[in-house]
Amino acid sequence: MKSRLTVAGITIDVTRKDIKNINLRVYPADGKVAISCPYRTKPAKVIDFATEKISWIKKHLDRGKHYKRSEINKFITGEKHPVWGVEKELRVIHFQNGRQVFLIGNNTLNLCVKTGTQIHHRKKLLQEWYRAELKREIPLLISKWEPVMGVTVNEFGVKRMRTRWGTCNIRDKRIWLNLELAKKDPVCLEFIVVHEMVHLLERLHSKRFYYLMDHFLPDWMEREKLLVL
Ligand SMILES: [Zn+2]
Repeated sequence: MKSRLTVAGITIDVTRKDIKNINLRVYPADGKVAISCPYRTKPAKVIDFATEKISWIKKHLDRGKHYKRSEINKFITGEKHPVWGVEKELRVIHFQNGRQVFLIGNNTLNLCVKTGTQIHHRKKLLQEWYRAELKREIPLLISKWEPVMGVTVNEFGVKRMRTRWGTCNIRDKRIWLNLELAKKDPVCLEFIVVHEMVHLLERLHSKRFYYLMDHFLPDWMEREKLLVL
């Protein structure tokens, strides 16, 4: 018996089954929250339970944390921006002509822009740079895991997603990855890619799903922790 409810803007899948207690699980990878409860539990009790745990749920979903941070960024010299899990100092270099680019140094992220380039334009340039970073790494991970897992990914994409790190369209064998992953340790990107690819073998977050995760990526829980840091 499955149903769905929304608490504080968060959608929760509720499954009623033959169990004694109410259980809560959060899946940061695809931004899902699930509650299982005994058959006879009243809906109001499930809502109370979820409301009580809402700050814990939000913390584990990591919802909006990066967005809040990027909203206050001004994209000026001295600001810190994470790249693959390492904080880099932004250095804005002005020039009159030529291409606007980001270049990465050991401790710096250099933004070469024409004098007078607006904040929103700088922000967009940085986002495109992050996207290019991911688009370089993702195909390598997919080709690494396809033969190991015996699945094929037809297509992948990168987009900004507020509530999930990845999604998988099982029918079309297409996966989407969150742009924010370029700010995390590279092991997190691999965890999400593998998680989405496991969905090609198992649609649900079932026992079999976690058996497969443990089998392919025994340290996936450590990677998940790094993701929500
Ligand atoms: Zn999933």
